[in-house]
Amino acid sequence: MQELIRQLLAELGEDPSREGLLNTPERVEKAFKFLTSGYSADVDTVLNNALFTVDYNEMVIVKDIDFYSLCEHHLLPFFGRCHIAYIPSGKVIGLSKIPRLVEIFARRLQIQERMTSEIAETIRQKIQPVGVAVVIEATHLCMAMRGVEKQNSFAITSAMLGGFQTDARTRMEFLELIRRPDLNTRASQCLPTHPVSSA
Ligand code: ZN
Repeated sequence: MQELIRQLLAELGEDPSREGLLNTPERVEKAFKFLTSGYSADVDTVLNNALFTVDYNEMVIVKDIDFYSLCEHHLLPFFGRCHIAYIPSGKVIGLSKIPRLVEIFARRLQIQERMTSEIAETIRQKIQPVGVAVVIEATHLCMAMRGVEKQNSFAITSAMLGGFQTDARTRMEFLELIRRPDLNTRASQCLPTHPVSSA
């Protein structure tokens, strides 16, 4: 990978041997390996000790999970927040494991839509809940930095499965619980999502 980065620097018109760039290939390789470490992470290893059988059937919500990912079209970051809810059917996931699950799918080359549905599908498969909902709000640097269609650089995607798909009241309850007053303004102004105070 380091040789490729050296070549890329030269293609950009840079001198890869100048002092400031000497260790750049090594750093870039390290960074990319970290940012794509989700490929080698195993969902079962992360979740296996943390699936519990419980008698609880109310909605579980984990909101404002920060994530950073890379868009597969430009290899530029998109980042923001993920909100997850599910209604258990006998099984729950340890709460601390839910952000880990987001990380597994964020640390890959992604598109926001697929990341949203992969997280929802994984939860559905692992604990077969009554329903799962995932909402992701993200800023895409490939849009924001290139100065094109800035109004689209802030995107919201959602995946609603089971009860969240069939029952409008359940869906509304979830959306109401994750709603922040600043969200609509922010979406229209298209500002970066960080830093944002916790809701
Ligand atoms: Zn992109």
